[in-house]
Amino acid sequence: ALEGRVAIVTGSTSGIGLGIARTLAENGAAVLLNGFGDAEEIERIRGELSLQNDVDVAYDGADMSSPEQIARMVAHANDALGPVDILVNNAGIQHVSPVESFPPHKWDAVIAINLSSAFHMTRLVFAGMKQRGWGRIVNVSSAHGLIASPFKAAYVAAKHGIIGLTKCVALEGAEAGVTCNAICPGYVWTPLVEKQIEDQAKNHGIPREEVIRQILLAQQPNKRFATVEEIGALAAFLCADGGASITGAALPVDGGWTAH
Ligand code: NAD
Repeated sequence: ALEGRVAIVTGSTSGIGLGIARTLAENGAAVLLNGFGDAEEIERIRGELSLQNDVDVAYDGADMSSPEQIARMVAHANDALGPVDILVNNAGIQHVSPVESFPPHKWDAVIAINLSSAFHMTRLVFAGMKQRGWGRIVNVSSAHGLIASPFKAAYVAAKHGIIGLTKCVALEGAEAGVTCNAICPGYVWTPLVEKQIEDQAKNHGIPREEVIRQILLAQQPNKRFATVEEIGALAAFLCADGGASITGAALPVDGGWTAH
């Protein structure tokens, strides 16, 4: 459904971003991957996505905390794949600390990567999308874009902020055929989470099923993780023609967490 479209997915060398990049490629879009990691492993993923789906896949290691590197990455996508039709702002980091001891440089880093990078990316692709009369912007927010938990001040502020940005961009792009939506995942199954489960099971001396139910998924009513494939499926739906009238929305994928 996305043949001929060009997508950038920030933070797509692992986890949710990679899941979204894979789903977009499976639907026929050319994709520019971004994020950190082992160069050989990234090249393996790039080659695999391209070969399996018969689409062009490029990679750019731009740091999402740098507006200059973001601008170079957008130029790279234009040169390598063509004008950008689909932008997925997914790169994100977390820092957990009480407000009074939250390091200011960590606050700045979380705001820069989780929020300001989405502004810079949007700023650079939006005019082209509007001119061509078609565009899709998907911002990966969080359940923490809708509600808060203690000790995550910067993350919760950034994830609420990106929903505000989403609404504003949706209004500005609406007549031109450019939609902008936020996806708000609860807990998602990523390698990062898998490792936490093993560690917690060892530390507490309890089985992993109990770690999942009692510790990690205490908030999540369906008592299971969302998968990166589920997040990818929603992103692909929003980008397809069937999603044309959905804009300015913040869509929870959280097993009922924010229904509490
Ligand atoms: P992850 O750590 O597996 O992936 C993060 C990606 O971002 C990686 O590719 C990493 O290299 C990249 N990245 C980090 N800092 C970067 C920077 N400065 N510049 C460029 N790339 C950078 O994490 P994930 O769980 O897949 O999270 C992806 C997004 O989903 C984040 O925005 C996160 O807040 C959000 N989210 C995750 C969950 C969850 O349960 N995993 C829940 C809600 C929201």
